[in-house]
Amino acid sequence: MKYRKGIVCNLIKGNNDALGEVNMERLKRCPFCGYEKPGLMMCKGRKFVNGLDQPIEQHKWYVQCPKCKARGSVSSGKVNLWSDLNKDLPIPGWQTTDDQIKSIAVKLWNYRID
Ligand SMILES: [Zn+2]
Repeated sequence: MKYRKGIVCNLIKGNNDALGEVNMERLKRCPFCGYEKPGLMMCKGRKFVNGLDQPIEQHKWYVQCPKCKARGSVSSGKVNLWSDLNKDLPIPGWQTTDDQIKSIAVKLWNYRID
């Protein structure tokens, strides 16, 4: 799915069973059509290098219902593709990880008055 010019979005995970991470909040059902298995979408944007020549990429995550196409708010940030391979290193404040962006996208989707 094309998000905007130059930005490509892909369905990453289809349901809660595939969320994986222990501390990840579970996705609630779609508030519009009631579908039980909303999907997580990930979009890759601009790519550049930082002062240490490490590859940095803008990532956006959001939750979307595959049935009625309702979409949650977008969460985005800059991910260091190099330090992703070296998780022991501290990350600077302007940088984030896919897990952090993803968990915010899940919170934004789940935020509602029941
Ligand atoms: Zn729906």
